[in-house]
Amino acid sequence: MASVLLTGGRVIDPASGTDKVADIAIRDGCIAAIGKNLSRSGVDRVITATDQVIAPGLIDPHVHLREPGGEHKETLATGSAAAVAGGFTTVCCMPNTTPALDSPELVEFIASRAAKTASCRVFTVAAATKGRKGEEPAEIELLARAGSVGFSDDGDGIASAGVMSRVLSMVGLTGRAFMQHCQEPTLTRGAAMHAGDVSLRLGLGGWPRVAEEVMIERDIRLNRGIGCRYHVQHISSAGSVEIVRRARAEGQPVTAEAAPHHLLLTHEACDHYNTMAKVNPPLREAVDVEAVRQGVADGTITVLATDHAPHCADEKALPFEEAPFGLIGLETALPLYTEALIETGLISWPRLIALLTVEPAKLCGLDVLGLGSIRVGGPADLTVIDPAVDWTIRAEDLKGRSRNTPFLGRKVRGRAVAVFINGRQVLGFTPRSDGLTDHP
Ligand SMILES: [Zn+2]
Repeated sequence: MASVLLTGGRVIDPASGTDKVADIAIRDGCIAAIGKNLSRSGVDRVITATDQVIAPGLIDPHVHLREPGGEHKETLATGSAAAVAGGFTTVCCMPNTTPALDSPELVEFIASRAAKTASCRVFTVAAATKGRKGEEPAEIELLARAGSVGFSDDGDGIASAGVMSRVLSMVGLTGRAFMQHCQEPTLTRGAAMHAGDVSLRLGLGGWPRVAEEVMIERDIRLNRGIGCRYHVQHISSAGSVEIVRRARAEGQPVTAEAAPHHLLLTHEACDHYNTMAKVNPPLREAVDVEAVRQGVADGTITVLATDHAPHCADEKALPFEEAPFGLIGLETALPLYTEALIETGLISWPRLIALLTVEPAKLCGLDVLGLGSIRVGGPADLTVIDPAVDWTIRAEDLKGRSRNTPFLGRKVRGRAVAVFINGRQVLGFTPRSDGLTDHP
């Protein structure tokens, strides 16, 4: 394997507290050295990274790759190509596939299929209940042994408190995290978007904040005395942020993640029955966007996740009530995070990188594999970011199979220009004043 020297980049590794200009040498798939003016002798390739950020490979702990059963929307191959284009080296796929990922055989199927077809690392978050029906816990111990890095019925919350309590106990024994899609289903029947003045004006069923908040409150109470690692997926309401903040202040093992759309958009984006902005949980109001951002800024929310949810154009062309929930995120996330969090002065680059590397690595237990950090001897998973390059999000440039995003046409700043996984370069751009050209 070719040895590579990255020179003069701003190396940011939150796991070790590193933030300095340095060179990084990659050899035999691993980080061979980090330091000033590293020797070029015997190096096959030198890449100049001046004015660029060199980060651990980005990790997205919440994506939908639609395999098996939804290959017309996305596959492990196309979804991982989108991940790499967006700067991600590792993604964790959710179990709401057909069939649901609720057996050790299916977890192993994803791993072997990913090894053959995916261009980045793919791990599975297995279903917590059989068939993802919320009625009976899945074989959680066996799923963990088969390689599941977490548990979730994502797409649905677990409605039964009794089942939830058993799931928390069983997942707690594995040491993995339980990740809740917080939606109390009896409060969201017929709901298509956030309950507010826009839903009233459009005559659409409203989805109240409390549908999310009561499930988080309930779960935190159930988890007292159990102590499972409990993670709130795609937090959307100001009240939810406050509940998580309080639980963390009490020392409870609670974490939360935020998605790019909940950091930037409000329910106004659904106006004119724009199905591209139909997402679960829904886009809410400016006060919620501000609260989610503040939650990130004050350390209540420690993980960023796209909830990449591909859907076909003909499905999103349906009337708003019938169109599926969800939008893609992998290829557009990085500049949207910087727009919402760095350009607003809320957090620094090192903190943003932490939210995208060491924090999701810890959530999913990937830190023990050496992922989410830059360390000599560790796997050379690296993302090189040009923070200053301006570009426009265009449908024709997207590598994934689906195009459902409300951000098409948005002018953004910053993107991944090179990505290495296990020392192999899987993405390379040459930034130019007239745009970006694929590296030969
Ligand atoms: Zn979800």
